[in-house]
Amino acid sequence: MTKINSKQVAKFLRPYRVTQGRGFRLRDVDPGDTRGLRSEQKAEAKELLARGVEWLAEEQEKLYAQDRWSVLLVFQAMDAAGKDSTIKHVMSGVNPQGVHVTSFKAPSAEEVDHDFLWRCARALPERGRIGIFNRSYYEEVLVVRVHQEFLARQKLPPELVTEDIWQERFEAIRNFEQYLARNGCLILKFFLHVSRDEQKKRFLERLDRPEKNWKFSSADVQERRHWKDYMRAYEDMIRNTAGAHAPWYVIPADNKWFTRLAVAAAIVAGMERLDLAFPKVDAARRKDFAAARRLLVGD
Ligand code: ATP
Ligand code: MG
Repeated sequence: MTKINSKQVAKFLRPYRVTQGRGFRLRDVDPGDTRGLRSEQKAEAKELLARGVEWLAEEQEKLYAQDRWSVLLVFQAMDAAGKDSTIKHVMSGVNPQGVHVTSFKAPSAEEVDHDFLWRCARALPERGRIGIFNRSYYEEVLVVRVHQEFLARQKLPPELVTEDIWQERFEAIRNFEQYLARNGCLILKFFLHVSRDEQKKRFLERLDRPEKNWKFSSADVQERRHWKDYMRAYEDMIRNTAGAHAPWYVIPADNKWFTRLAVAAAIVAGMERLDLAFPKVDAARRKDFAAARRLLVGD
């Protein structure tokens, strides 16, 4: 198998990486795109993914040992786009002690008693750790924008709810991410872009296959009716919140094997750029080591 290097990975990811939102159009990314890899090459893709997973494990070990940077991975997508299985596969090689996944559902009574970033701020990864947000504060400009009755339940003072609220939330999110980045948090955001047709196929599978029945929800089928509104909200979100310090990766998600590969590649590339290294042992510690060695050997 040919060796892959970071330059190749960066080139592979270029079409999906958004660091500058102005002019971004969702329709420029085809959910069925596999970057020229054909499904007959799935086996090769799997092998590449295995390499990526190993590489990621190495980076995570250094991240943990160095205890300087933290990594925040944000996953957003329509239902059945494969968030859960992508997280599972991509993180399969990583030491569970270094990773924490938080899923954000409709906010609880306690959560709506706070500002909208509160519950996410509490779940942020500490230095040396990888934090995964399965959904996030971005729901506040997605589901809440599509269903404005949710906004009404947020107990906001009415005079603060104006037509500017979405722009204000984008601004709050930009500032929050800027702040985190300046504190040593690497932020990578993923939108798994599935097509409406593929979603239908996957819902039907959940109905037809007994072992998938538990995943089926009629509410998810209802939600499909708002597809266009969601796509508009996603596009506007990416336009307003993509930045060099907090890029969006818009990943084609009609082929799961491709989604996993692209997500793994983006995480590896992002962590590589941190130039992580095991902490160096200084002279005093080395002396300490020599003494310990003498003790052990003479034991
Ligand atoms: P699964 O793949 O298991 O279905 P899920 O992430 O869809 O995972 P669910 O419990 O089905 O989990 O759905 C969570 C729901 O909570 C989503 O419909 C999401 O839009 C909603 N949600 C998340 N954050 C908010 C929020 N801030 N306000 C309102 N609804 C939210
Ligand atoms: Mg769901």
